[in-house]
Amino acid sequence: MTVEPGFIGQITLDGPSGTGKSSVARDVARRLAAAYLDTGAMYRAATVAVLDAGVSLDDKIAVARAVSQAAIRVGTNARRELVTVDGVDVRERIRGAEVTRAVSPVSAVPAVRRLLVARQRELVREAEAVVVEGRDIGTVVLPEATLKIYLTAAPEVRAQRRAGQLGVTDPDKIAALAADLRRRDEYDSRRADSPLRPAEDAVVVDSTDLDKNAVVARIVDLARSAVGVGEGR
Ligand code: C5P
Repeated sequence: MTVEPGFIGQITLDGPSGTGKSSVARDVARRLAAAYLDTGAMYRAATVAVLDAGVSLDDKIAVARAVSQAAIRVGTNARRELVTVDGVDVRERIRGAEVTRAVSPVSAVPAVRRLLVARQRELVREAEAVVVEGRDIGTVVLPEATLKIYLTAAPEVRAQRRAGQLGVTDPDKIAALAADLRRRDEYDSRRADSPLRPAEDAVVVDSTDLDKNAVVARIVDLARSAVGVGEGR
């Protein structure tokens, strides 16, 4: 992979689950020698804290308290994933079914979002160049970002990609994955606080018929033109 440093600024990458957002975001960050922040990993780590505290997901105050009392760390190195809760490595656990089922209700709690958004802004401030991935980054967390991307893909394609990542081939299981994606998209788009939607000034990239490298190349081009890197060469 060619690394093309020179980009300074913030790139936001929002969109629903299963668009390949994480691997695209990580690759764009590596190409631009930028930091990378996976805010979904932060909400997932917060969900681990809530599950371990044993509180009901309906008790918003207890949920927020459990999140505020946990030490949640998410790294910003695009080449090395780091996610810990109270010092315990939870990289595998946050991708499991238990956390995936509970993460949307946890992340719909406004006090949880306030805590994590403040932390996200702090982490971003530390970096000259950063790619931040999530649902509300262009709309709420970094409304002044240099470049905003909203990544989408047809629902069937998203379910197939998720199945590929997990090594699932059974059609019933693929249908269940598709149902899970629809459920989370609906929950995330309808919540009152920071719903999933493109920012008005976002570039919408539909990856239904594009492979990952084509999406990465398009975003890197957009980033370079946004700051004028390489024009004049
Ligand atoms: O991106 P990922 O699938 O890991 O995100 C998990 C969940 O975290 C999403 O379904 C959403 O409920 C929540 N999330 C959020 N805001 C973000 C990132 C993720 O609410 N910025």
